[in-house]
Amino acid sequence: MSGFLFNEIVFGPVKSRRFGVSLGINLLPETMKYCSFNCIYCECGLTGEDQEKHVKLLPASELEHAIRQRFEALKLQGLKPDNITFAGNGEPTMHPGFPAIIDLTVELRNRYFPESQITVLSNSTRLHIPAVKEALMKIDNNVLKLDAGSELMYRRINRPSTPVTLAEIVEQLAGFKGNLIVQSLFLKGSVNGEPVDNTTPEEIRLWKEHIVKIKPSLVMLYSFSRETPEKELQRISKETLQQIAGNLEGSGIPCEVFD
Ligand code: SF4
Repeated sequence: MSGFLFNEIVFGPVKSRRFGVSLGINLLPETMKYCSFNCIYCECGLTGEDQEKHVKLLPASELEHAIRQRFEALKLQGLKPDNITFAGNGEPTMHPGFPAIIDLTVELRNRYFPESQITVLSNSTRLHIPAVKEALMKIDNNVLKLDAGSELMYRRINRPSTPVTLAEIVEQLAGFKGNLIVQSLFLKGSVNGEPVDNTTPEEIRLWKEHIVKIKPSLVMLYSFSRETPEKELQRISKETLQQIAGNLEGSGIPCEVFD
């Protein structure tokens, strides 16, 4: 699998276009992506069909030890991150120790970096699991993915390996009662001869319906910025993203475009 993988548990700090000075946490293997989606634009590369057979997750205790050690060292160096961001090589909530690791991270954040926010980037497929949702309710920023208006486009863009439908995801996101940021990535092109475009008027109409139902505190719009595993894809220009953002004017839901 080609693609960009993080080879550390705690990485950075990196200057992020969306999250300022961000200290990243990767709970997933350093040698492969582990995700319930196989997004056509994923910068980590394609999801392996046999990922469940090959994945070797570190025990939560080992991850917690690494996080604690790195936080202590960075504090001594005087680092003040804006964000502690769970991202990395796939979907962070797929680690079974995710809830316990969130508890520890909140405790360490309060001790070492009390002004930092804790952010989780998630693909929204595991919000129906009570322990995952409870953990997400303890952090500052839930940045949750919604890339499509229709079920067809959801399946073509995100290629889920879970039975979760787009309608179920929208229901779950609405259940956050505004305690979330929705991130939506727009693109167009084709994959294996099938057209992919989540910027058509009908896709945008449906996407807007979902956003209005979810009522997030913010919507982040962007296109891909790195090499994609599927090659026949086009970035969406900043101007077009701004036009898409304009659809939410008057809804009371703020929307930011990231180029
Ligand atoms: S959800 Fe994120 S990590 Fe998973 S395939 Fe999509 S872009 Fe990649």
